[in-house]
Amino acid sequence: MLAPEVEALPWAEQLVIDDQSYRAQLGYLFERSAFYREKLTAAAIASADAAGGLDGIARLPLTEKSELKATATAENPFGSHFCSDPSEIVRIYSTSGTTGTPSYLPLTSSDLENWITGSARSYAASGVVAGQRIVSTYNAAFERIGLCHVPVGTGNTERLLLAIELLRPEAAVLTPSYAAYLVESALEKGMDLRESSIESVLVAGEPGGGEAAFRAKLEEAWGARVTEAMGIGDIGPSLWGECEEQDGMHLGARGFVHPELIDPGTGEALELDDGAAGELVLTHLRHQAAPLLRFRTRDHVEVRTSPCPCGRTGPRVRCVGRTDDMLIVRGVNVFPSAVREVVSGFAPDVSGNVLVRPSAPGVKQEPPLAVSVELAQDASDDPLLAQAIRERIRAVLVVQTQVELVPWGSLQRSEYKSKLLER
Ligand SMILES: [Zn+2]
Repeated sequence: MLAPEVEALPWAEQLVIDDQSYRAQLGYLFERSAFYREKLTAAAIASADAAGGLDGIARLPLTEKSELKATATAENPFGSHFCSDPSEIVRIYSTSGTTGTPSYLPLTSSDLENWITGSARSYAASGVVAGQRIVSTYNAAFERIGLCHVPVGTGNTERLLLAIELLRPEAAVLTPSYAAYLVESALEKGMDLRESSIESVLVAGEPGGGEAAFRAKLEEAWGARVTEAMGIGDIGPSLWGECEEQDGMHLGARGFVHPELIDPGTGEALELDDGAAGELVLTHLRHQAAPLLRFRTRDHVEVRTSPCPCGRTGPRVRCVGRTDDMLIVRGVNVFPSAVREVVSGFAPDVSGNVLVRPSAPGVKQEPPLAVSVELAQDASDDPLLAQAIRERIRAVLVVQTQVELVPWGSLQRSEYKSKLLER
């Protein structure tokens, strides 16, 4: 543990500290954030005192990404939740999002420091230690852990494989899609990643790393342990990280961010109880530049609260999918990533690539739901296999599907994030 005095603190004590930070953050929002002053006043909460502490946070309105974007102007590209003086900003990140125009995320030096601290804890949970080398396709706080960071740009597979071969890093950080893609690319070049120096693969950037079958496939192909990490662009690049127990991600950014769970349909708050599932909502506790209150992450997670043998405390989460990708088939919530997880159980007959093809626009669908399942490289079309997959999906996810087996290589591979849903 990078900071045992923080990471192993009983969660109830963490919440006492967080309550103080939260009250101070609310005061700051009322003082500096035009966006939240207006939003909270409209919700009949006229002051920080009226909002109260963390135990009353569920009474406050949720924040949607679209609301923030709507307030960005040419004069203030950050949006009206920007609280600092521009001269205090030391870094500006941008996220592409799905709608095209980027969101800009300003950070003060204090924000950056907190961001690095939380990020370092969440990556260190995976077991990587000072003195090792880590190759990655993006920037993160690896130096804080004492790792030697080898950044390699996105989409440069040749260079990444060469870095693994020549620099012999112990760890790699990738999206799960890219980790799967690299296995195929390496094999085409006659390189077996199982023989490489990589002992740990840290996956982040999209759901999938926590899916048992998908993880097992990656671990087998890389000959390495696979752990998952998760960030949310508007809140922090890496907030959660899985430990070597591989049973859900710990909140590395504890003390800086407060997690909540809601029902994505009604917005109603849910308890962070063991086994609970819903959309993750996050609140900044000590943020200066553009703090967010009850921000809807659109990530659908499952909660674990059983004690973790690693000693880290607090609720853990496993990301099941994006709320935006969720379909409702005759009243049953279905995530394309969950379909992939069930299908991956049919390896080695299938490649693990799937595409869910809803027939109607919108969330609500009539069964059967069309699913294309890609066969493994040497497998041939087998009606019995399609039937077995259909039955397993029905048993596990309680949804009727129409499974179409498609040849190896016909579904799109991604060097970044997989598209599991076709609209
Ligand atoms: Zn743990």
